[in-house]
Amino acid sequence: MSEETVSPCLEVTRTVADSGGKDMHKCMQCGLCAGLCPWRSVESPFSLRQVVHQLQLGVEGFESDDILFGCTQCRMCENNCPRGVATSAVVRAARAVLYQSGALPRTVSAALGNVRVEGNPMSGNRDARLDWTKKLDQPLAVEGDTAMFSCCVSSFDPRGQKSHRALTDVLRAVEPKISGFGPELSCCGGTLRAVGADDLFSELSEANRKVFEARGLKTLVVDSPHVYDSLLHDYFGEDQPPPFQIKHYTEFLAERLASGTLQMKTPFPKKVTYHDPCYLGKINNVFEPPRQLLRAVPGLELVEMPRNRFESLCCGGGGGRMWMETPADRRFGVLRVKEALATGAEVIATSCPYCVSMFEDGRIVLEAEEKIQVMDLSEIVRAAL
Ligand code: SF4
Ligand code: SF4
Repeated sequence: MSEETVSPCLEVTRTVADSGGKDMHKCMQCGLCAGLCPWRSVESPFSLRQVVHQLQLGVEGFESDDILFGCTQCRMCENNCPRGVATSAVVRAARAVLYQSGALPRTVSAALGNVRVEGNPMSGNRDARLDWTKKLDQPLAVEGDTAMFSCCVSSFDPRGQKSHRALTDVLRAVEPKISGFGPELSCCGGTLRAVGADDLFSELSEANRKVFEARGLKTLVVDSPHVYDSLLHDYFGEDQPPPFQIKHYTEFLAERLASGTLQMKTPFPKKVTYHDPCYLGKINNVFEPPRQLLRAVPGLELVEMPRNRFESLCCGGGGGRMWMETPADRRFGVLRVKEALATGAEVIATSCPYCVSMFEDGRIVLEAEEKIQVMDLSEIVRAAL
């Protein structure tokens, strides 16, 4: 019987630890993370426990697209790890080391290339950043201290643009002077951080901070949980609070609902289930504002999927996966649409452009276009105004 030998390379362990992954040393290899990970629900070679072990030992095997770059950074493991291992930081650190050596997955490299040149990962032209506004009833102002951040998916993807126009109508109904940004604003950089492109993130976030500063912002309403997470945690440093309010649109609208400024009077008589986006819910604890809004829609029946709030199943689009190919039988978005269908819901609602994109794909894969609709929450509120 032959015994396989491994050659540890402590240099790898040290480099990953020095890049922000030193929490790997706290791991006791219990395997809870691997059991809770959404990849357990599909055929996949990915196991976070194994990745962390390989990093601890400094042995090869973690580098491939479907291993290290499989993690969607959904935070299910980190929220439940008995040793409090900051798993997302460990994964990001290992990716940062690969990024330094130019070994990112091909499609992620292409997206990063477009961010470098055009300020977005969507193959869009920088000058077309405001093209989505052409179908608005009135042009969008690009000055004013209350503004909305339109993420790259909302600005360039046709489905994202559609729900973003609904959000703009809703925001204008409660805040008539709300403004936007033109080509001077770039991608929030959330994906760059997630895949370890820290130098590019610093460059981009610095440029965006200058845009915010020049505007004299008081409140920034963001459409995407990825933008929200990035701005809250990576733009201003942990001990330096942001110089203006940052609100996800569901928080902003729930406040306006409570104050009576947002009124929904048109019935929306459908059975709706709500999917918690990981970067809004599991990572930033915003669970109730979206539900408060849905409960206030006349005629709407809200039903929960068994996995909700902290147990919510990831859509599969975070952590850079939005820019990677996943075979149809491994897509979490397909599983999530199945879970939504099992509740009898006619609509799966969410509040993230990535999730909308993943679920639109999921219902096509399942040939369920006639059975269930995918809606951003802003589209439901728009219909109920
Ligand atoms: S749950 Fe935490 S301690 Fe357990 S294997 Fe995963 S990272 Fe290690
Ligand atoms: S963050 Fe999510 S996808 Fe990544 S290893 Fe943890 S549970 Fe799995």
